[in-house]
Amino acid sequence: MSVDRVLAEVDRAADEIVDFAARLVRIPTVNPPGEEYEACANVIGDQLRAHGADVQLLPAMGRHEHTPQHPRINVIGRHDGTGSAIHLNGHFDVVPAGLGWTRDPFGGEVADGRLYGRGSCDMKAGIAAAIFAVEAIRRAAINTIAPIEMSGTVDEESGGFAGVAWLAENRLLSRERTRAVIIPEPFGVDRVCVGHRGVYWFEVIAQGRIAHGSMPYLGINAIDGMSHLLDLVRDELGPALFGRVTAMPVVPEGSRHATININGIDGGQPVDDTPSPCVADRCRVVFDRRFLMEEGLERTRAEIAALVAKAQSRMPDVTFSIEDRLIFEPTRTPEDAPVVGALAEAIRQVTGREAALVASPGTYDHKHVARIAGVPQCVAYGPGQLDLAHQPDEYCRVEDILTATKVLALAVIKLAS
Ligand SMILES: [Zn+2]
Repeated sequence: MSVDRVLAEVDRAADEIVDFAARLVRIPTVNPPGEEYEACANVIGDQLRAHGADVQLLPAMGRHEHTPQHPRINVIGRHDGTGSAIHLNGHFDVVPAGLGWTRDPFGGEVADGRLYGRGSCDMKAGIAAAIFAVEAIRRAAINTIAPIEMSGTVDEESGGFAGVAWLAENRLLSRERTRAVIIPEPFGVDRVCVGHRGVYWFEVIAQGRIAHGSMPYLGINAIDGMSHLLDLVRDELGPALFGRVTAMPVVPEGSRHATININGIDGGQPVDDTPSPCVADRCRVVFDRRFLMEEGLERTRAEIAALVAKAQSRMPDVTFSIEDRLIFEPTRTPEDAPVVGALAEAIRQVTGREAALVASPGTYDHKHVARIAGVPQCVAYGPGQLDLAHQPDEYCRVEDILTATKVLALAVIKLAS
């Protein structure tokens, strides 16, 4: 029957799939700044074309990140059909290798049943799995009805604005055109990620008054002012957030709580140069608040505003202000959505295990699919362990790549039939 045929095609293509993933790892698509995007888009495009797809290379025209030195090139391959499409999307940018590697981060080395390299797990193995899942369906000569699309996109690691957001703004992903989106991010072969918490990234600026450092009582110290806010964040907000737990199945479990992180602080005289004796008249702190669906954005912002007002009342001579940096609403695909059911059934068929539904502590391109494209059915499912992403000696198990390819193939057949 068709299930056995398609699984056999994945097994037959095993070396091809791993070779293709390794080839992608060997292209150092490091972001920032966005190296080798064009080369990687071309390799993906050529592969999709060889698989009989109609391929479009899509420079992110109009985005300021799209420059002659670092062009932002996305790629889509499409097998035509009737109705709205099943879309498999993966980002091909990777974070910098960083220190601590014992392997070549861009060697694409396969050893001990693992594919090593930066981006092996996050998420070039996932891209290979998606592309070959669709190819296995074609090689098994299984008829599907809906169009099937695969895309490779840029800049997920830096927000995805020239990548998935750009596709959505240009209606290449849209509610009308797209039925469901699967993003093979590395959540593991038996986990389906249905959404993520919200992000409220903001900065607080404290403004004081400069004076001579030998007579600090003549000035107003902005760092001292900011310290009142930091006290409140630690002593009042922190415990309150810890007490709030979402019903969403966020992993790791520590992130089921609402959280806040102090990302950075800048104030007063530069500390590396020889400082001049001045009272610090300005201090900025960038905060990263991850909020729960149950909290909502408005309550989250109001709570921060109230906290800053409290700091202001303790330190009336300092002027506090808040500037929003980045906001993403939490998102969650309903558990009874067909895309969730199709993947859960496929996981059962291929692995014999029940699928675990999870949610992500951080955001990924799902946010653009939900918010800009308006596609309600979006999940992440792909090979690799989430905790290896962005680490030295990042790897993806070969067996997991093949398992995920099989699961994706069965899910796509179900969704596209
Ligand atoms: Zn990723």
